Amino acid sequence: MKLPYAESFKIKMVENIRKSTRQEREQWIKDARYNLFNLRSDQVFIDLLTDSGTGAMSDGQWSELMLGDESYAGASSYYKMKQAVKDICGFEYFLPTHQGRAAENVLFSTLVKQGDFIPGNSHFDTTKGHIEFRKATAIDCTIDEAFNTTLDHPFKGNIDLDKLEFVLQSNPKEHVPFIVVTITCNSSGGQPVSMENIKDVRALADKYGVKVLFDSARFAENAYFIKTREAAYQDKSIKEIVKEMFSFADMMTMSSKKDAIVNMGGFIGMRDHELFREASMYNILFEGFITYGGMSGRDMNALAKGLYEGTEFDYLESRIGQVAFLGEKLKNFGVPVLQPFGGHAIFIDAKKFLPNVPKEEYQAQTLAVELYIEGGVRGVEIGTLLADRDPLSRKNRYPALDLVRLTIPRRVYTNNHMEYTAVALANVYERRDRITKGMKIKWEAPLLRHFTVELERA
Ligand SMILES: *Cc1c(COP(=O)(O)O)cnc(C)c1O
Repeated sequence: MKLPYAESFKIKMVENIRKSTRQEREQWIKDARYNLFNLRSDQVFIDLLTDSGTGAMSDGQWSELMLGDESYAGASSYYKMKQAVKDICGFEYFLPTHQGRAAENVLFSTLVKQGDFIPGNSHFDTTKGHIEFRKATAIDCTIDEAFNTTLDHPFKGNIDLDKLEFVLQSNPKEHVPFIVVTITCNSSGGQPVSMENIKDVRALADKYGVKVLFDSARFAENAYFIKTREAAYQDKSIKEIVKEMFSFADMMTMSSKKDAIVNMGGFIGMRDHELFREASMYNILFEGFITYGGMSGRDMNALAKGLYEGTEFDYLESRIGQVAFLGEKLKNFGVPVLQPFGGHAIFIDAKKFLPNVPKEEYQAQTLAVELYIEGGVRGVEIGTLLADRDPLSRKNRYPALDLVRLTIPRRVYTNNHMEYTAVALANVYERRDRITKGMKIKWEAPLLRHFTVELERA
């Protein structure tokens, strides 16, 4: 028999978590204005809100904390991180930032201006936020297959080259500061981009003389999918694939809270010295001096270590295997899940799950609330609330998919937790016909509203 995957780690320390009663949860979620971000973490049994900064560091990373150099300028920790960015991603220049959106803020302050167009694959919400905040426009060029939730396509994060070329053709290059390639594509379901697509995007970028930015939070998971789904890469190591992927980018922004398995941190990688100089000014203004940029030395050390660990095949196999384990369980219960399964999360198609709830009443948010009440499991809406309103008409945007994301933290939960989650969701699925009313908004912020929105039952 072929041996199954098993976790590439064993557990040395545990954190206790507590179940609650349904009655308690009904009160808590009401008090939280039906926004799961407003719950206290001790009101949650299994927290699948995000895989961002929620991973468990290794003993190696914890040891690195003790070796942190907290010098303001030129700390050894800075050089350790610089070396790791060079080794793993291949970028000569880099700037540390306190997280991914800070990297976007610094880089976009340098490159994006009013009236610009930035094509890409389903831009992540903070990426889009930083574009629109500068009165520029994000244009989604993801392949149409991404929006068919049951279609089996190995690389649903891919960019549609015709859509991309149309944008490049119809705008002067001065107004297209870069193309964003999000690896893996979070907003379209943690779906990967193939190496072939990356190469084709690079070729188009060269043809039109524009830069390519990788939004790289889950670059290692993307590399795992390339290795396991793209024939030419099956014998290459993850580190080789990662190097090759980044060789097609001019720059990268990184939320290290994902694939670098740290609780806080980010960076920008660049090839161009002039760009590095310009971005350095904004880094100093917004983040801190260029050799720490909002991170402490110890955190840079742990991040550097995480970049090496997060690109190990055995780790990625057990991580992505656990996500698929949850996905398979749900599928067997008949729950409509996005397929193929993403690298960091399972996405539930709320339009199919709760067809009796009108879309104006936020189907995915309604489902996320129901799952919490059922089992104390916290997922997150990736749908209409997240999509914000159209900046001009102020109308809801109603994206093609209204999803609940169950995001698996790295090296944190066991498969029993996955099993529990699947059963809780199956219970909601069993009573889905009786769920006919959703939510309505009591208060919302003008941008990135999903974090703070206040809701009531419709
Ligand atoms: C998380 C994430 C970001 C933003 O990073 P933060 O560390 O949360 O600020 C940007 N892009 C993608 C694809 C992400 O997943």
